[in-house]
Amino acid sequence: MNALNKKTVEDIDVKGKKCLVRCDFNVPVKDGVITDDKRIREAMKTIRYLVDHGAKVILCSHMGKPKGEFNEKYSLKPVAKRISELLGKEVYMCKDVIGEDAKSHAAALNDGDVMLLENTRFHAGEEKNDPEYSKELASMAEIFVNDAFGTAHRAHASTAGVTAYLPAVCGYLIQKEIEIMGKALEAPERPFVAILGGAKIADKLNVINNLLEKCDTLVIGGGMAFTFLKAMGYEIGKSLVDDTKIEYCKDMMKKAEANGKKLLLPIDTAIAASFPDPIDAEIDVSYVDSDKIPANMEGLDIGPKTCALFADAIKSAKTVIWNGPMGVFENPTLAKGTIEVAKAVAESECVSIIGGGDSAAAVEQLGFADKMTHISTGGGASLEFLEGLELPGIAALNDK
Ligand code: AMP
Repeated sequence: MNALNKKTVEDIDVKGKKCLVRCDFNVPVKDGVITDDKRIREAMKTIRYLVDHGAKVILCSHMGKPKGEFNEKYSLKPVAKRISELLGKEVYMCKDVIGEDAKSHAAALNDGDVMLLENTRFHAGEEKNDPEYSKELASMAEIFVNDAFGTAHRAHASTAGVTAYLPAVCGYLIQKEIEIMGKALEAPERPFVAILGGAKIADKLNVINNLLEKCDTLVIGGGMAFTFLKAMGYEIGKSLVDDTKIEYCKDMMKKAEANGKKLLLPIDTAIAASFPDPIDAEIDVSYVDSDKIPANMEGLDIGPKTCALFADAIKSAKTVIWNGPMGVFENPTLAKGTIEVAKAVAESECVSIIGGGDSAAAVEQLGFADKMTHISTGGGASLEFLEGLELPGIAALNDK
């Protein structure tokens, strides 16, 4: 899939038109204050374009999981305030989503005005992709613009459903995400190194399979590596493992070999007697080679030799895609592997693409964000994209 095949805001005349713009404003809020506004900042290019071109802008988004009913905790009010600050003009915050307040304000918008509907998930129809709900949303507008990359893998009423009732185009953020990741998958500068980590191998089966066809080197760390290590016949102690995926790992190792791809696994491991509880508790760790994990110990991070091995592969890469931490990075003692990989990617000259979620958070926290080519705004969405799946929120848009 390639957003270039989809119409964008530049392909239609938006002047004087009411544009329903689906963004991903699912940002963390604590005590009414947004703690990370990256997703809002990333949406501003499309919003500014529409305002500058005289559109009547009706923004919408979900936030959190309010379970289909109004809940003040998940109100988008702080988001309206932040957009207003960034835009330097008032953004009207609606009291409802498809109610009287939203509809009357939408009807009265002047060219260049901006309003924000309440949380689309305040109605159960959102996640059910209920056509009646989509129709109500669409009834307020003349054009639909989807710029919610973080939600593009979900066929919901405000992401895919509305496209049945309005001309539908994508915004700049979706365009950027798909172009950068699409190019990396389809025509990467080589060597292309893909790095996967995180806890569960079951979540990443198709990503491993797809990336093994595209990349030159696949690097696997984090909890998911232990199923591979066990498949190699290693004793992995109490480390995280999915015994139902041993055969799968063997197949993937064979596939890598048959296709001349390098598959790098941890050669040493940080081990501890048990998983830290609470997760950031002080913990005693030691480092052993990956084939020498004692039966009563658990592997919780990659070790220094592995960091060097992975960094070496990253150094010579021209393209890197990274999704998932190398260890239990929430704990300072077990964050070393993730930090070292982040550093190596930041220092490399390569095109670097960070899948959303934990690896994006790690890169931002460590202060490496501006050293990366692209940090995706969508964890789940970028993962599904890397699997080679069609994202329903994008597939539903009008072709060029
Ligand atoms: P995921 O949601 O699959 O991306 O996994 C992210 C989680 O994986 C983080 O919360 C990490 O703490 C966890 N994780 C990474 N490495 C390990 C490991 N070796 N053992 C257990 N959990 C891990």
